[in-house]
Amino acid sequence: MNITIVGTGYVGLVTGTTLAELGNSVYCVDIDEKKVEGMKNGIVPIYEPNLEEMFLRNIQAERLFFTTNLKEALDKSEVVYLALPTPPGEDGSADLSYVLKVANDIGELMTEYKVVVNKSTVPVGTADKVRETISSKTSIDFDVVSNPEFLREGFAVEDSMNPARVVVGSSSDKAKEIMAKIYQPFTNTGIPIIFMDEKSSELTKYASNSFLAVKITFMNEIANYCEKVGADVDKVRLGMGSDDRIGHRFLFPGIGYGGSCFPKDVKALIKSGKDDGFNFQILEATEKVNISQKVILVSEIEKYFGGNIEGKTIAMWGLAFKANTDDIREASSLDNIELLLQKGAKIVAYDLIAEGNVKKLLGNKISYANTMYDALENADALFIATEWPEFKNPNFDLMAKKMNNKAIFDGRNMFPLEVPEQNGFFYKSIGRKTIQ
Ligand code: NAD
Repeated sequence: MNITIVGTGYVGLVTGTTLAELGNSVYCVDIDEKKVEGMKNGIVPIYEPNLEEMFLRNIQAERLFFTTNLKEALDKSEVVYLALPTPPGEDGSADLSYVLKVANDIGELMTEYKVVVNKSTVPVGTADKVRETISSKTSIDFDVVSNPEFLREGFAVEDSMNPARVVVGSSSDKAKEIMAKIYQPFTNTGIPIIFMDEKSSELTKYASNSFLAVKITFMNEIANYCEKVGADVDKVRLGMGSDDRIGHRFLFPGIGYGGSCFPKDVKALIKSGKDDGFNFQILEATEKVNISQKVILVSEIEKYFGGNIEGKTIAMWGLAFKANTDDIREASSLDNIELLLQKGAKIVAYDLIAEGNVKKLLGNKISYANTMYDALENADALFIATEWPEFKNPNFDLMAKKMNNKAIFDGRNMFPLEVPEQNGFFYKSIGRKTIQ
């Protein structure tokens, strides 16, 4: 099949590469000329494990193409995926301007039947808006389908090649048939495709992300309470997770959720609810708890230094919002950096994958180290903000040699408590006793 993907970010590029890998000819369109030029030259613009190899293989096989020209791609494709940004507007609602602008362009440019597949995360009713926008520009037949994306950054290729399920919202039999054909390689291997109406499909995405955000936040509150009463969240987590109605995943406490999806999707669902006269009380609480959870360790650092951290050097391991990505959107590291700088501390950060994106945002407001141990040179404390695997089993002797103080503030509970204890470190993590 010939398929156009509009938007080559985390979702668009991974979806496009996956569809090419499944044998389709895929035309990826982006307005960012530099990015398109780079991709034509074999440069992957984002970091995702295993993406580069698949991307290069499909370019080589002449199944994956890049252009800034929407018309050129549209003319070759019956199916057009939208993988465009839907960032939060001032009031928290999803900004649909990117999606509706491209819908408008498609209406103006199309010359024959198209299936317009929306992969962006959008509020209930957006399929209708896309439909109205396109039909205001053309009388040619077309269908709009909602096909939300559930991939996780850091596992995007794995998730895209082997999704838990495919959700397709459509009221057109013709479009459903085309979508079933595209996803046949998945359904053949037992991956379910779940058909529903557009509105239910649009809400499935928000409901899924919001549920996960609530699950994380619930566990963060349990962790905070553990500290109050002397319980250990690791034990509680294991005890809870062993019940298969609960499960072990998303029970790990830490310094809050971040990234380009959970914060914005929770906000957008709250706002959609409000617009429809509905109050999402659980989500409002979740958002509030998460904002304070992100910086919960800063007061602990202050306490450790007797209330004043002016002039203290804090080494920060990890900048990405989670491991295995270069994405720093709404990363907890950024909230902590901002607050620590405000209080007069200096930051030396280490995260080779996400460093470039942070440099674009913060420039030389902080320093950057080339290795995790270089970051510790004369540091007064270590702050762990991202759970990169390389931090899991560090050389504590070397750490002790480099640091002014043997103090770790761990926002991701990287170590069993006995490890820093045996190595003589002060260790403050989340929901567990402090090792003094
Ligand atoms: P992104 O910001 O990484 O990428 C968006 C791309 O669209 C950029 O390359 C941008 O240049 C391009 N673009 C903007 N306007 C354009 C236009 N008019 N024509 C062509 N290209 C244009 O975004 P993303 O993270 O891939 O997210 C896309 C959507 O998918 C969002 O709605 C997001 O909520 C949703 N989503 C994201 C993830 C994730 O993990 N990132 C997961 C599931 C769903």
